[in-house]
Amino acid sequence: EVKAQGRDGVFMFNEDMAARVESRLEIERLLHFALPNDEISLDYQPQLDRAGRIVGVEALARWNNATLGAVAPAQFIPVAEQTGLIVELGKYILERAFMTLREWHEAGIELEQFSINISMRQFTHHDFEAQVRELVQRHLDAQLRSKLVFEITESIVAEDINRVIEIMQRLTATLGIRFSMDDFGTGYSSLSYLTRLPLDELKIDRAFVCTLGRQEEGPAMVATILNMADVLKLKIVAEGVETAQQLDFLMRHGCTVFQGYYYSAPLPKDRFVEFFRSRN
Ligand code: C2E
Ligand code: MG
Ligand code: MG
Ligand code: MG
Repeated sequence: EVKAQGRDGVFMFNEDMAARVESRLEIERLLHFALPNDEISLDYQPQLDRAGRIVGVEALARWNNATLGAVAPAQFIPVAEQTGLIVELGKYILERAFMTLREWHEAGIELEQFSINISMRQFTHHDFEAQVRELVQRHLDAQLRSKLVFEITESIVAEDINRVIEIMQRLTATLGIRFSMDDFGTGYSSLSYLTRLPLDELKIDRAFVCTLGRQEEGPAMVATILNMADVLKLKIVAEGVETAQQLDFLMRHGCTVFQGYYYSAPLPKDRFVEFFRSRN
């Protein structure tokens, strides 16, 4: 990260910043055409259980633009949120994901869960619940609905928490959708707030998994999070598992589901199918 501060703390507008502002504007401009030009796709990252079987998947958005090339979600999702484009984009992602879930089911690829990231701005949009309901009813029967997991982040607790809880409860009661707290431990929410949310799962952030074998206090922190999930009766998924050592530590501390490069990076749809068939 380049600091936007001069020697005396004076804000300096340098060439690097100018380039970044320009690219931000370029992303915003081109993002408007991403859906009509069919530039958005989804990759799928497997989630494996303790026996190494694929039990779930996380859908991850990809944007491939003729001018910009592949733009990372970390770059375009925030822009989509700021501009409100996330509402349309999110709807498109949901529909594509639902269609894949159904297609895979028909091809004999059975998963316990199918996770989709939902941004806060998308979740709190007045039309979100109706959108989800309509898309679910169009594409998924009751059995497949029960596999859906929506990943939200701690930023959601900055919203009207009672309204958030009501929406979550209704989506669970009427459609069987479950909720996961993504990037757990990286936000600023208090534990008491989090425990009020009707969650099914915590995803321990990659940043913590990363500390295993690197920082002295890493193992104790990860063990504490795993312990807490156990107390709260939440399923835990470890993300960003890259090494056998990390996997081993997580297993010894009771973690049940693992996601990361150690097993597989996110894969295009067809490659996920190959990976599934080669393992399960
Ligand atoms: P996330 O939901 O926490 O997704 C996990 C990210 O970690 C993904 O990055 C994935 O490719 C990456 N990852 C997985 N395993 C490993 C590993 O072992 N090592 C490392 N270094 N990275 C790993 P990606 O695909 O770039 O997505 C970044 C973030 O963008 C996501 O973080 C999520 O917050 C957001 N995002 C992605 N797709 C969507 C989407 O469809 N909707 C919304 N609202 N947000 C999305
Ligand atoms: Mg996620
Ligand atoms: Mg995550
Ligand atoms: Mg993360």
